[in-house]
Amino acid sequence: AAEHVDPENPQAKALQYVHKSAKEGQNCANCILLQGNAGEAWRPCGVFPGKLVNAEGWCAAWAKKP
Ligand code: SF4
Repeated sequence: AAEHVDPENPQAKALQYVHKSAKEGQNCANCILLQGNAGEAWRPCGVFPGKLVNAEGWCAAWAKKP
């Protein structure tokens, strides 16, 4: 299985990635860049190739899923 994104890695830090969003109404689960299967806790993301992000996470690349 793929590894979880480490929030301390330089790219994650640059994008302010966190496993738990502090932004109301914004999280990975409603971001257009999230991939994988709805309902799974850890899913692939287009900006972190080969890693998994938390569905409740957030980063500065967040963009609302239409
Ligand atoms: Fe989450 Fe950022 Fe990936 Fe969107 S781009 S799914 S907010 S880590």
